[in-house]
Amino acid sequence: RRRVGILSFQGDFAAHARALRRAGAEPSFVRRIDDLAHLDGLILPGGESTTMLRFLQAEPWFDALREFAASERPLFGTCAGAILLAQSVIHPAQTSLGLLDMTIRRNGYGRQLDSFTDTACITALGEAPLELVFIRAPIIESVGTEVEVLAECGGYPVWVRQGRVFAATFHPEMTDDARVHQFVFGSGFGRDVNRSA
Ligand code: GLN
Repeated sequence: RRRVGILSFQGDFAAHARALRRAGAEPSFVRRIDDLAHLDGLILPGGESTTMLRFLQAEPWFDALREFAASERPLFGTCAGAILLAQSVIHPAQTSLGLLDMTIRRNGYGRQLDSFTDTACITALGEAPLELVFIRAPIIESVGTEVEVLAECGGYPVWVRQGRVFAATFHPEMTDDARVHQFVFGSGFGRDVNRSA
């Protein structure tokens, strides 16, 4: 079974652990840089990106996470985790890893839509629609040419990838549907949908 780490300083890392088990992977909680060794993939969970950033900046995490991404192991940021991966963060601006070429707007849906659900049909996941849970979600405002949009909702990309770096603005760990985690970390293991590499 593949061993997938979850950055566990803050946020909904426990829900991701359950989702990984449903997807047939073995979760591993990551709190120290050394914990990144021997992982097959890594999740940056939802929560509060500014708080996570404080932990990440207290030690050489930025170098470690960039090395992790360069090693071609899947890296998946959800919600706050997506904010941490972005090339550019606005509203307000915030430092980020720059591992996925997108501009992301924090709390993009505003107070009226603090939390909501929607559905999307994602060809890569098969026929059944996927339930999308958004919680104080960011909006992906633009993506670079190297970025593939895996899902869209309300006119915005909500699930994207650049190579094996994935980001979702919704919370795939909050439903019983394991297809997103399976797609990123499962048998396909972050492979291109349309290519057979
Ligand atoms: N609003 C949070 C932030 O800006 C993200 C919300 C979430 O991860 N559910 O970090």
